Amino acid sequence: MMQLAQPLNFFGFVYREVKQSLVDMETMFQLLKVEAQVKDRPGAPDLLLEGGRIDFRGVRFSYDDDREILHGIDFTVRPGNTVAVVGPSGAGKSTLSRLLFRFYDVSGGAIEIDGQDLREVTQSSLRQAIGIVPQDTVLFNDTIGYNIAYGNPAVETASVERAADLAHIGAFVRALPNGLDTMVGERGLKLSGGEKQRVAIARTILKNPAILLFDEATSALDTQTEREIQANLREVSRGRTTLVIAHRLSTVVEADEILVLEAGRIVERGRHAELLASGGVYATMWQRQQEAQRRTAEAEAEM
Ligand code: ATP
Repeated sequence: MMQLAQPLNFFGFVYREVKQSLVDMETMFQLLKVEAQVKDRPGAPDLLLEGGRIDFRGVRFSYDDDREILHGIDFTVRPGNTVAVVGPSGAGKSTLSRLLFRFYDVSGGAIEIDGQDLREVTQSSLRQAIGIVPQDTVLFNDTIGYNIAYGNPAVETASVERAADLAHIGAFVRALPNGLDTMVGERGLKLSGGEKQRVAIARTILKNPAILLFDEATSALDTQTEREIQANLREVSRGRTTLVIAHRLSTVVEADEILVLEAGRIVERGRHAELLASGGVYATMWQRQQEAQRRTAEAEAEM
């Protein structure tokens, strides 16, 4: 966060509100007109999207000089595929997504989309290509329609309604007294975490990006919400190149590849069944989580 230190000192109150989540950092830059330290190369062309293939090649990264966080990360997400990153807290999972969005430049190696180094293309075209469903969606004090169309104000109502339906929040919105014109946020209707996430998904469906970054919430969720999120992810990632930063494991079962990150290194990789069979770190994490879920389900049943 070195690069942001100054504006964040000035705007600490905003920072506290928005600190971790990517979309909120994007919003923060826009709201405060803060220019990120990462600059476009003079004359940089726009990203030319083909399938939306992502390549991390030997990526190294440090936030500050004295501690390297990522020590050489190699992986590919093929067009339309889903790769999930799992691993303990502090392993560097969210850092990968911040680098893909180019909040920071890599310290070594390169990240490419469809063969183009992120440092060689305009940031606006890069961010246009990527949709983010963040950990916690912060809603604006405005209508639910505005919140869905955010970033695309000229969009027609019919498209907003369609996106809401695809994100499984359409019926909920129609049941509100003022429909899409209902005010939400701190000074309006309060939405649950799951509903807010569906607003973010509707926003992403409307943006229609080739690449999707799904940053899963860290907080423990009940079994029902967990299942809904899994279904939401399946819906929104269809046909898109998807990188899931997974804090729990249930959303990664169907991924084309799972990367297990520990202290900035990929220590295991493969599909769910392969990793379970190999009996390594992932298998242990999975067993531990299954056990925790069993206890939660028992507690829910007793209530
Ligand atoms: P979690 O599951 O808890 O979200 P994570 O695997 O996503 O963890 P990261 O957020 O990527 O982990 O953090 C990796 C390391 O980088 C951690 O040691 C963290 O303290 C450090 N780090 C994260 N953000 C910054 C920052 N802005 N400045 C300096 N260090 C940072």
